[in-house]
Amino acid sequence: MRTGILKLVSGILLLCLLIVPAMADTADDFMFKELGERAALLAMDELGFGYGDPDVLVLTNAGRAVVDGQPTNKVLSGITNISGLSNGDGNLYTINRADWKALWIYFYDRDTGMGLYLVPADRYYTMTKGEIISLPLENTFSTADLITGDIYMMLEDTDAGNATQEALGGNAFSLLSISNSWAYGAPYDLMTVASLHNHLCPGVLGGYIPAKYVEEKLPAEESDSYTAVFTSASCKLDAFPIMWDMTPGKQNLAIVSDGFTEDSQAAFTEKYNATPAGVFVRWNSGEKSGDGIVIASLPSTSPAYEGPSWGTKVYGSVEKVKCLGDLDSIYTTIYEFKVDSDELSELKNPENNPYEVIGMI
Ligand SMILES: [Zn+2]
Repeated sequence: MRTGILKLVSGILLLCLLIVPAMADTADDFMFKELGERAALLAMDELGFGYGDPDVLVLTNAGRAVVDGQPTNKVLSGITNISGLSNGDGNLYTINRADWKALWIYFYDRDTGMGLYLVPADRYYTMTKGEIISLPLENTFSTADLITGDIYMMLEDTDAGNATQEALGGNAFSLLSISNSWAYGAPYDLMTVASLHNHLCPGVLGGYIPAKYVEEKLPAEESDSYTAVFTSASCKLDAFPIMWDMTPGKQNLAIVSDGFTEDSQAAFTEKYNATPAGVFVRWNSGEKSGDGIVIASLPSTSPAYEGPSWGTKVYGSVEKVKCLGDLDSIYTTIYEFKVDSDELSELKNPENNPYEVIGMI
């Protein structure tokens, strides 16, 4: 019996060994890896940067996009091989898109504020290996636009800003918000949140920054978990799948309560002179007790925005990102409380008003 299983296992292993070398070098693998290498070569030439330049970022939906039924992740290897930009070094990110969306690659140099937006020519995907090898670099892409990518440069010169908006089209907000936030200090975890959310708006920062603030005020140990309760659904919810591993499938999402009516909002504002930004509990399952805080946002100290509408949210995000080193300048704790398991269940019930459950109003 045992010998039979061993023979079967070694048979399967041998089969795998025979198949793997063939799988590792398909024509599609070559095509996509070569595409990434060509994108990197062109970007290094057009933007004028060298191997592994820490001032350069590359964003792409390669890895998410599927072209003619083929996965595109080999583009990432090609980019890294030539440019030295990598996810491990925090300057290469795959940005979430539906898998049928066209593949694009965006390089951004924060030193010069210039970006290069690349979209492969459709016919590239239909070429044989031989045709690709003899294809001139500049014919690889149907779009290769050199643009002003720095938000402050775009606002200074709105003609250049408008041209950037036009060149990036439907990808403009996604690419400009993420690349500018990176350039002005967005750390790796925030870039991961932005990669999932597909853009980096003030809304998603309204989830990411409270998560960081709560981690600072109520630090979690291995056996702890957090509960987050909000009174409206918005982009902020998308910070929590990354930050706190809260996903719909595991049914441990941040809670959006319906119980906070306009009347209770008025009562809350009158009593606390603040708009609440969420209720948070750190729960210890061993002790069956939780520590909670309610936080509110502080007024922004950034200069008011007066530019074109395309810049509002990018500017808003970048100004917030610049303050990440001092979370106490963005949020404040307005209430502290303790809960047992019954109170925690009450708090998690979306029909309840969370501020009533914890005795604030
Ligand atoms: Zn958003």
